[in-house]
Amino acid sequence: MHKILIVEDEDAIRLGLVDILEMEGYQINEAVDGEEAIQIAQTWNPDLVLLDLMLPKLNGLEVCRHLRKKQPDIFILMLTAKTEDIDKLSGFKMGADDYMTKPFSTMVLLARIKSMLRRSSQAKSPSDDLFTFGDISIDFKKYEAKKADCDLELSAKEFQILKYFSDRIGEVVQRTDLLQSIWGYTVDNMPTTRTVDNQIAKLRQKIEEDLSHPAFIKSVRGVGYKFELGDN
Ligand code: CA
Repeated sequence: MHKILIVEDEDAIRLGLVDILEMEGYQINEAVDGEEAIQIAQTWNPDLVLLDLMLPKLNGLEVCRHLRKKQPDIFILMLTAKTEDIDKLSGFKMGADDYMTKPFSTMVLLARIKSMLRRSSQAKSPSDDLFTFGDISIDFKKYEAKKADCDLELSAKEFQILKYFSDRIGEVVQRTDLLQSIWGYTVDNMPTTRTVDNQIAKLRQKIEEDLSHPAFIKSVRGVGYKFELGDN
């Protein structure tokens, strides 16, 4: 069972997170300030720390820096209020593996956590270039795809999208994430998100058996998409 340390000084948020994550079957510990967070991390050795940025005693960035030095294997997911200084966000690059702004959706948070922990358990897997789901197998290195042992024609963009999904199975992917990562748009010159939907529709026609009930690329209403490995 994975261990998650929740560091948050606001009781309501912390207790809410404890409830949600315990229900998901994680082993939970909590800290209300930065010093306590470091103490518990040292003795309890969690797999992941949910770390609020603004904390009493030591702030989230200081805790992050400390953990990175002493316990580099711990995954750190930073939580920050939207109103907090944007300069501090750049500090996340100094150590946090990921961050989310409050208020966040529980669904997205759980997906991020799952995906981070999954990455940690298969870190440095030699099979990163290979991806299989249903009767489809993809070799990202060779740009080759097969469906039921027949060649499957995919465009470069489709390979990129599937690679992006393969690193984030079960995680909600926003259309704007795809526009930035696959198409290379920046926040200032975003085209309409129809671009993504059209591309996903084409990809679904190639990989899904039942277009009205996609098994792999699921739509998440109002947000984007989520890749699942199907039912088998
Ligand atoms: Ca706080």
